[in-house]
Amino acid sequence: MLTPRLQRTLAKPAECRGIGFLTGADITVTFLPAPENSGIAFQRVDLPGQPIIPATLEYVQPRERRTAIASEGAVVELIEHAMASLAGLQIDNCVVQLNAPELPGGDGSALLFVHAILEAGIVEQSATKPLLVVSRECQAVDSTGSSQILAGPIPRHLLAITFELDYGPRSPIRPQVLTVEFSPELFVAGLAFARTFILEEDVTALRAAGYGTRVTEQDLLIFGPDGVIGNELRARDECVRHKILDCIGDFALLGCDLHGHFRAYRSGHSLNHAICRAVREAHEEEGTFRQVA
Ligand SMILES: [Zn+2]
Repeated sequence: MLTPRLQRTLAKPAECRGIGFLTGADITVTFLPAPENSGIAFQRVDLPGQPIIPATLEYVQPRERRTAIASEGAVVELIEHAMASLAGLQIDNCVVQLNAPELPGGDGSALLFVHAILEAGIVEQSATKPLLVVSRECQAVDSTGSSQILAGPIPRHLLAITFELDYGPRSPIRPQVLTVEFSPELFVAGLAFARTFILEEDVTALRAAGYGTRVTEQDLLIFGPDGVIGNELRARDECVRHKILDCIGDFALLGCDLHGHFRAYRSGHSLNHAICRAVREAHEEEGTFRQVA
């Protein structure tokens, strides 16, 4: 028998600070408790009227290599690691206030947010969390065919994610594959520490475009031809662990728990969003899907 779990929120506000990877801004983020069935939303307290943007698929903007949401001109960039922290800790209702157009980067992992949330504490609410049980095969494939993500049924009541990362024999990032069965304990112990990674050549291009001016080699993993520059891996497969962390953050845009097996090959944020849309479309008529209002 499958017992639905209760929704959860924070016991009290959790605050953290950091630097924006894109803008270089000094940012303060506050995770606030929120009523049941309200879901996750971000609030730009630096803008007139302090607009609120729900963190659901409908508000996702097309972006390269990150997840951003926007509503009526108010944008929040790089929400994925905050989303992963909330989903990873099974926090369903929260308003994330921030005073900048992006989340702070922290050390490139989810630890900045996870530590703040755990310190504030988590409380159960009385409503149950909607659940989508994947009952049929769904897929999302990159237009070039070089990356894909599949979702299908799993014989047990859980979310499993398999991620395979292979950038070819010339890449300094070695091929790695990992399957995880999601739980908050697994997230905290095995995924939250895993940092964003990027190739040195991409850093050069981003800096030329005016981004990442305050980002150093200590703030994420930068791979040169001979491996990580000025930093050390926290696990041999830290990169694939980070990719799974990103999946957990992106899947949370569905606003429900998922049971199924997701199998990703070189997937990124856009494909993660695409598989969420595909799964939702394929299950809309089955009555198993209810989105948080
Ligand atoms: Zn990421």
